[in-house]
Amino acid sequence: MQLLFLGTGTSVGVPAIGCACAVCRSDDPRNKRLRPSVVVESGETRILVDTSPDLRTQALTHGLSRISAVLITHTHADHIFGFDDVRGFNVHGASATPVYGIPDAIADMRRIFPYVLGDPDEPGRYRANVEFVEVSGRFEVGPIRIQPIPVIHHPHPTIGYLFEDAGKRIAYVPDASDVSDETVEMLTGVDIMILDGLRHRPHFSHMTVEQSVGILRRIGAGQSYLTHMCHDLDHAETERDLPDTIRLAYDGLVLEL
Ligand SMILES: [Zn+2]
Ligand SMILES: [Zn+2]
Ligand SMILES: [Zn+2]
Repeated sequence: MQLLFLGTGTSVGVPAIGCACAVCRSDDPRNKRLRPSVVVESGETRILVDTSPDLRTQALTHGLSRISAVLITHTHADHIFGFDDVRGFNVHGASATPVYGIPDAIADMRRIFPYVLGDPDEPGRYRANVEFVEVSGRFEVGPIRIQPIPVIHHPHPTIGYLFEDAGKRIAYVPDASDVSDETVEMLTGVDIMILDGLRHRPHFSHMTVEQSVGILRRIGAGQSYLTHMCHDLDHAETERDLPDTIRLAYDGLVLEL
């Protein structure tokens, strides 16, 4: 199994429009962060997690031309507003691409993108060929077993995803402000854990680096990564203060399991 980070930035990305701070002007490519998304791959199966507003750029950068499924974590704009670009992957394909999410997220997707489910034979229409699938528990895409991970993304309950293939487990939780004891227990001992680590200053709906490190120590993954980072965090400077088992993700980073 392999995971590629397509984007590791917070909702506005880094650099941010109109900002001239040191991180936004940095030459370190690891300080360039597109909106949050990853691809999880095993053999011929390729799963896209979230469709960020930067999806087109991300797909072209990494030569992503075919996907088996889309997973939605939640429906904030930074996670879904590239959804129309799913057309590029499948409009010429024979079968619809499944789009998985919890019932609340799928209801939002149907409301925000009502046209995608219209008459497929209507002339002149060019839209994603998808089918929405509501999930409540474990499901599979190809050889990959997937488990929704409940977390709080204040004030709403939302999810991340746990992926398991050939005895290896990797978990991706890009947006969370709190992780319950039950969820920590569910994630204990995963091989790789990826968690929200927005910045050092407290935030209403995201975790600080310090909060995230606290949760990551309890989960105790072999290796952990922070993602969904804003321009407060310089990559090299932030990593200097972290243990070796906790690193900052960056756009284009590939994790092999
Ligand atoms: Zn987000
Ligand atoms: Zn900045
Ligand atoms: Zn969010």
